[in-house]
Amino acid sequence: MTKVLNCHELVPGCKFEARGTCDEEVIAEFADHIATVHNMVEISDEILAMVCKAIHEEVRMRTARA
Ligand SMILES: [Zn+2]
Repeated sequence: MTKVLNCHELVPGCKFEARGTCDEEVIAEFADHIATVHNMVEISDEILAMVCKAIHEEVRMRTARA
């Protein structure tokens, strides 16, 4: 099972997607991303709460292509 966090849920317009097999992995990847790309070195409890809410299981889209 893959968990995904879209950065745009927290930073509108950013297309980055953090992925992992568990919340910790996704958060670690996301923390790395916001530190390097958004200069957000520290994740406050508030941000962390938003991050946790934004993490969801990857939904595999059924390809509608014929
Ligand atoms: Zn981002």
